Amino acid sequence: MLSDNSYVYKKEVDWSVLHEGVNIPVTIQVVFQNAIRTFLPRGQSKEIYLVLDGKTYEAILKNQRFDEGKYPKRKDILQIRYNPQSDIARRLRTIFSSSYRYISEHRNNITEKQRKFVRVPEEKREYLAIYTTVYPDTYLLECITQEDTKIFKDTIVHEDEHEYEASINYNAVDINATIAKVNQTVKIRKLNRAIGETLKLLYNYRCQICGENISARYGVDIVETHHIVPFVESLNNNAENQVIVCPNHHRVIHKARPVFDRRKLIYVYNNGIEERIILNLHL
Ligand SMILES: [Zn+2]
Ligand SMILES: [Zn+2]
Repeated sequence: MLSDNSYVYKKEVDWSVLHEGVNIPVTIQVVFQNAIRTFLPRGQSKEIYLVLDGKTYEAILKNQRFDEGKYPKRKDILQIRYNPQSDIARRLRTIFSSSYRYISEHRNNITEKQRKFVRVPEEKREYLAIYTTVYPDTYLLECITQEDTKIFKDTIVHEDEHEYEASINYNAVDINATIAKVNQTVKIRKLNRAIGETLKLLYNYRCQICGENISARYGVDIVETHHIVPFVESLNNNAENQVIVCPNHHRVIHKARPVFDRRKLIYVYNNGIEERIILNLHL
């Protein structure tokens, strides 16, 4: 019953992921945040299970204490922790061998202080996806490697952005994924969809442009994710590249192709009309 995963966190693979764990910022993680408050007070930690490729590993979930007097408005800092010599850390170093090699090489000739800032170049980056499961102490891990991204790129290159997004938004039958039969493409689509679903929840199914949930009066929730830079070109499914819009605004954006001003958070249309993102918690 691990399949019912609602919340997701996408973490770029760095030295810390490969050795000691992951910090989970709680800014956009609505589901997780609600779930965790009930069982892990600040300053405490507990044992958790990480499931990767069907195997279960032990780790620690920690709700880091910080000085509330100094940082009154700061949210909790959650960490998943493991030992550098633990089975899970070893396994991650094997799977992410490309990142591990790159970071190891580049850590050699720099000072201690600079070391934690070594990042893999964008085109070679790998990601760890973390999903919640129906069990509050069990998390599902999925590794998105260089190889996965390469295979995914090849399968998606001829897809139309609008159709691709429809498959993400409505869980439509994914013809390309079934034909390709490769786990790699399923993993990336699933991650993209999960990030979108988390954002929809964050905005309570309201459009970030008009602020409306137009379907609520009918007793249903219909809202869509749109990729600011087309996903089929950029493969960028980071939350910062997704905006939550109603079906009307979504159709208009695809047809009218307004320019997005990221600094001002405004869509500028060819005819001069400007529309501001009025609801924003993640951009
Ligand atoms: Zn709208
Ligand atoms: Zn779109």
